[in-house]
Amino acid sequence: MESTASDLWSRVLSAVKTGMPEQSYRTWLSGMSPVGLSDAELIVEAPSEFHVEWVEDKYGDALQSALRRLSGEAVSLSLRPSGGSGSSDGGTVPWVEVGSHEHAASPGSRNEERAAGRSREPRKPPLPLNERYTFERFVVGSHNQLAVAAGHAVAERPGKTYNPLFVYGGVGLGKTHLMHATGHAVMAGPHDATVVYVTTERFMNELVGAIQTGTTPEFRRRFRQIDVLLVDDVHFLEEKESTQEEFFHTFNALHDAGKQIVLTSDRPPKELPGVEDRLISRFEWGLVVDIKPPDYETRVAILRKKAIDDDLILGPDVIDFVARSCTYSVRELEGAVIKLLAYSSLRNQEIDLDLARHALQSIIRPASGNGPVVRAEQIRDEVAREWNVDPDSLASKRRTRAIAVPRQVTMYLIKEMLDESLVKIGRRFGGRDHSTVIHSIRRVQAKIHSDDEFAHRVARVRQLLES
Ligand code: ADP
Ligand code: MG
Repeated sequence: MESTASDLWSRVLSAVKTGMPEQSYRTWLSGMSPVGLSDAELIVEAPSEFHVEWVEDKYGDALQSALRRLSGEAVSLSLRPSGGSGSSDGGTVPWVEVGSHEHAASPGSRNEERAAGRSREPRKPPLPLNERYTFERFVVGSHNQLAVAAGHAVAERPGKTYNPLFVYGGVGLGKTHLMHATGHAVMAGPHDATVVYVTTERFMNELVGAIQTGTTPEFRRRFRQIDVLLVDDVHFLEEKESTQEEFFHTFNALHDAGKQIVLTSDRPPKELPGVEDRLISRFEWGLVVDIKPPDYETRVAILRKKAIDDDLILGPDVIDFVARSCTYSVRELEGAVIKLLAYSSLRNQEIDLDLARHALQSIIRPASGNGPVVRAEQIRDEVAREWNVDPDSLASKRRTRAIAVPRQVTMYLIKEMLDESLVKIGRRFGGRDHSTVIHSIRRVQAKIHSDDEFAHRVARVRQLLES
């Protein structure tokens, strides 16, 4: 534990070190000590309260984003004076504002509020646009090509091309990264635009706060002064009526004024449960585009890029191994790399194939090792749930269409995830012969290529099984 905290912290330091004067680094950062690491936070102590404030103020953003990146977004940084008890619970930075500030929507009252709350509230630096989430660092593959092109188009002519741009796809596939990259590109362009990134959760919390304190008009005014509004994870709007209402009006006000809106979600607008139709139809006004799980070649390309960006040496065999072991998301790939690093520094060994095998044991598919086994029955049950059919009917001889598709998907996933022989799979499904099985699997493969919605359904089931 101890050594992992210091390992992670030293990686964070080396990530930020290059961008700062050696003297400042020595004065402020090198003497801090990592004291604990949990799933969600890395606690680092500084010699004094003042030291903590200074570091947060000057280097907080850089440290925070390096840590988030290195930990696959999982861990946030908590600084405290040594001997103190500094709580790590998040401050309430309700939304995040970046970009040009002339008409920046940050009323004095809020700043005063924050300043006043300062002494009591645990401090946490606000989350800016993550400086690493740029187009330069975003690997383009067939899985995200369209979404990337749309992001560029939006950045070139905000409000003019696709409005809104709605990007959807599963967890860890790069939606947030793409959204930030679009924001950065707008700001680098000639538009002098106020860019605001906000998560749906923060939008909701802000709104609730505004309602409670009777400052809704203020809230509205702020949101309607924005030139480019980036709203992450709108699937969290489900069932939240008052938020949807407010969101609807904000959306209309911005859209009518020709301001750009970019939205992300884990599924397409039509499938958002509990979101009003009028909002869904707004979401579909512009361009709806998806990001799929990356294919093998893209996974390799992403790993190579991470290795270069982060100055790691990963041999082609290691890259191949990781790319084959982590098949769902980019976040999963990044998590694997972090594991390799941790493992290599704990054991003081180079990262080679052998080490990779050991380090990734817990996430390796059963096909390639002896990790936790997803059983064929679980695959069947999960597919049956997704397609809303009776699991037992999948093994039957019945040939109705309603059953045929989920049955094929089950075969496909058993092959993919467990690498069972075709004969064995055939036996599971009422003694079908292996050519029927291979036919079913090919049908699924073809459909994944031609039908996005289907591809997402299969990916969703797989992700559930793998998590
Ligand atoms: P999502 O918002 O879809 O859950 P994120 O945007 O948070 O996913 O991406 C998860 C991680 O994977 C991030 O660290 C991001 O930088 C990285 N990532 C995702 N897609 C790519 C890509 N195409 N190239 C490089 N890194 C990527
Ligand atoms: Mg995201």
